Amino acid sequence: MTDLPADLPADTTADTTTDQLVPLPAEADVAICGAGPIGAATAYFLARPGLRVVVINHDPEDDPANLATYRYSGGSIRWTWPDPVKREMTTETEKFIRGAAPLADLAMLQNTYHLLHTGELIPALNVSATRLVGLLRDQATELGVQFVDDTAVTGVRPEGLGHVVETSRGSIRAGRVLAAMGAANASVFPESSATPEKRQLFVLDLPVPPEREQMPHTIVPVGDGFGYVFLKLIDDRLRVVVGQEDIVEDDDTSGPVDHWTTILDRGLAATLPWLRDARVDDILWGVDTAQKTLVVDEPAPGLLIANCGSAIRSAAWLGRTLAERLGS
Ligand SMILES: Cc1cc2nc3c(=O)[nH]c(=O)nc-3n(C[C@H](O)[C@H](O)[C@H](O)COP(=O)(O)OP(=O)(O)OC[C@H]3O[C@@H](n4cnc5c(N)ncnc54)[C@H](O)[C@@H]3O)c2cc1C
Repeated sequence: MTDLPADLPADTTADTTTDQLVPLPAEADVAICGAGPIGAATAYFLARPGLRVVVINHDPEDDPANLATYRYSGGSIRWTWPDPVKREMTTETEKFIRGAAPLADLAMLQNTYHLLHTGELIPALNVSATRLVGLLRDQATELGVQFVDDTAVTGVRPEGLGHVVETSRGSIRAGRVLAAMGAANASVFPESSATPEKRQLFVLDLPVPPEREQMPHTIVPVGDGFGYVFLKLIDDRLRVVVGQEDIVEDDDTSGPVDHWTTILDRGLAATLPWLRDARVDDILWGVDTAQKTLVVDEPAPGLLIANCGSAIRSAAWLGRTLAERLGS
């Protein structure tokens, strides 16, 4: 197993070797801390009315302790929900992604969720979250947003009517600040009210023959929880990927834990026997936010701390909504 992200495309990440560091600007209208889906999408929507936006990002790709959760994300997007808030968040994002797809290779698959316990079939997409973030970054950059990579935010303090963002390379003054560092928000801002949650996906060694290429994203009730089995394009190859909720409890946020045989034995293999002999090739894991809607804390006027545990399928809605709050 590798700690490196499975679907990192070479063409959508910034070249950030240390001798090419972008100079830190002295000030901005809005400073965004973190260039994951929330930070990159908000930067894109903020830049459209012409604000000076700086995004500070610390994303060491080869550091197993780095907290860029989106790199390990399943990238599943469904947009029909009974809950009106989730429906709005995901419908807007689905439309945005379909519109953006011709501009970049998002490793997109069109598929269907199949809820085995009800027989329901629900339309869905799957994308590479890394490529989606890369596209948002590219579009924001074209609109004039400045991305400052290899620079860690260490704190934010009030100054006059605005804020000073402290970083590993100096400080930036900004009228408004968005903290969008995912799980790292909580270490920089202990007042964050988002609840952290570990998530894992098992990438299996199974081949995907032509008769399985149309396999739906299958939701399988197991005990008090459920497993989900779906196809994902990783490094241009179709892979069988499995996740679970409430089959096995796992709060170990220090690294991946291989529960594969336990999940099989607790009932997944009884329902889907073709998984029984599969082995785990890779575990995609990260620390996410338990709440699947937007959680915003505003400890000082103009300083927003934003978290969301479904920031891929909600990216466009999150970006527009936060940009409206920060730009007003
Ligand atoms: C296994 C797994 C499967 C998932 N599947 C799905 C799914 O199918 N669909 C879905 O919608 N969501 C899914 N998610 C959730 C989704 O990935 C997260 O909701 C999303 O990544 C959160 O986005 P974010 O921008 O808040 O944080 P992150 O993705 O963590 O991005 C934060 C950014 O801030 C940077 N950063 C961190 N610390 C600092 C610092 N001190 N200074 C500067 N920058 C910093 C990071 O490097 C990163 O670039 C999944 C998550 C996991 C772990």
